[in-house]
Amino acid sequence: MTTRARYGQYINGRWEKPSSEQWIDVVNPFSQENWSQVARGSKQDVDRAVAAARDAFLDGQWPAMTATQRGALLRSLGDRIAEHAERLAEVESRDNGKLIAEMRAQLQYAPEWFYYFGGLADKIEGMVFPTDKADMLSYAKYEPYGVVAAITAWNSPLLLAAYKLAPALAAGNTVVLKPSEHASVSTMELADLFADAGVPPGVINVVSGYGHEIGDALTGHPDVAKITFTGSEATGKRIAGIAARDIKPLTLELGGKSANIVFDDADLDLAAVGAVTGFLSAGGQTCVAGSRLLVQNSIYDEFVEKVVSIAKAARLGDPFSADTHIGPIANEAHFQKIIGYFDIAKADGADCVLGGRVHQDSEIKDGWFIEPTVYTNVDNSMRIAQEEIFGPVLAVLSFETEEEAIRIANDSRYGLAAGVWSKDSARALRVADRIQAGTVWINTYRVVSFMTPFGGYKASGSGRENGAVAIKEYLQLKSYWIGTSGDVSNPFVIR
Ligand code: NDP
Repeated sequence: MTTRARYGQYINGRWEKPSSEQWIDVVNPFSQENWSQVARGSKQDVDRAVAAARDAFLDGQWPAMTATQRGALLRSLGDRIAEHAERLAEVESRDNGKLIAEMRAQLQYAPEWFYYFGGLADKIEGMVFPTDKADMLSYAKYEPYGVVAAITAWNSPLLLAAYKLAPALAAGNTVVLKPSEHASVSTMELADLFADAGVPPGVINVVSGYGHEIGDALTGHPDVAKITFTGSEATGKRIAGIAARDIKPLTLELGGKSANIVFDDADLDLAAVGAVTGFLSAGGQTCVAGSRLLVQNSIYDEFVEKVVSIAKAARLGDPFSADTHIGPIANEAHFQKIIGYFDIAKADGADCVLGGRVHQDSEIKDGWFIEPTVYTNVDNSMRIAQEEIFGPVLAVLSFETEEEAIRIANDSRYGLAAGVWSKDSARALRVADRIQAGTVWINTYRVVSFMTPFGGYKASGSGRENGAVAIKEYLQLKSYWIGTSGDVSNPFVIR
């Protein structure tokens, strides 16, 4: 795979050096080698990117395009991504350490967002209202906001970019995209495809750099009209503060502490696979991780045994190897954060029945690898049950009744997702209805689609990505009144 020694920033259809002339080393989390560099962006770079996006929104090819042409352009971008899916997947896997199998699946799937929202671009219909006023016509139509600041996290940079770019562009906005300092290269490689897909200069700009250095400059920029963000709750709150100050609409996809609830009438073998999917897929570095497993008392021991026996067979290693189930943790700071929870769990009195340590295998022992870790006898008030760990760590709780399961599941500041496992479909639906989460999976886990809305309740976020409703996140409604009587009556009275 050939990559560049350095990636500048993609502004107004051109690659530019950062004005700081400084660069950030790109580290492969598996080998821990520096393999490239990305620009350390600054406020000046953000200002140039936002100016390019503003100009492209106001003038030139983009606003002159019909919605149908915008749709065709999005489909063309989807085609380019499909052509380069393998390469983009390899770059991303090298960048964030996630399994090549997972990244391949994501990159083969990502074009669907551009096809789906490309199809939607010319189906954004306004409305005509009935009116109680004589001789008046009243209607409304949707308009794009203008410049959208789109900020993504390191765990799935390109899929998250697709979640944001496709609806934002379909709606007619222009975008400044900022990937995470920990995994920027795949987004830069994506930018290489824009011109070929026919994206006019300035319509999508990509700036890289440290979030704490350029984040506020981007979200607080007066010409940024809308913000969409995926990442931590802490950063989400900071951005929400800026959005509140500047009265900017905001879509937030933050973390979770999702409850995966297993009833004694579930297919336990299936549910055990679902429980492992919940906490070990992507090495637990996924916002929808089912990291709180709630198991009915009568099957608790038997079920924990099943989960542990699957989890302990998971192989850690090179994310590029077909035999690997769990890759490294994406960066050192995050690795240290996860390890810190082992002491917290111990101090809180949880029992560790699997893992609870960095990996001991001689071949990878120096890497950022953490063994699949399972804690039992967890009380929901413990920190490992309340805080998002974002690693391969499972907290197993018990419950007696349906009512208790619902109470524990909802006793969380988060509400991104949940799982319910039961062969009794009435029970499963009854419980799902009462779970405070944006997505509930029944007898399955971690399924997402461009067609189904995704987002959080409570501290897990606001707004929705995916599905036709997501395009509304990038549109504002303008109402019109047209007088048809040829008469304007009393100017001192509301009409
Ligand atoms: P952050 O929230 O720090 O990062 C997410 C994105 O926000 C990155 O692009 C980051 O840039 C950027 N950012 C950072 N500071 C600002 C700012 N002030 N203004 C605007 N953008 C900013 O999350 P981390 O990557 O540090 O991950 C920490 C935790 O977040 C994880 O442990 C996990 O709990 C959660 N997380 C949740 C995800 C989800 O899907 N909901 C995904 C990833 C993480 P930069 O990286 O350059 O600082």
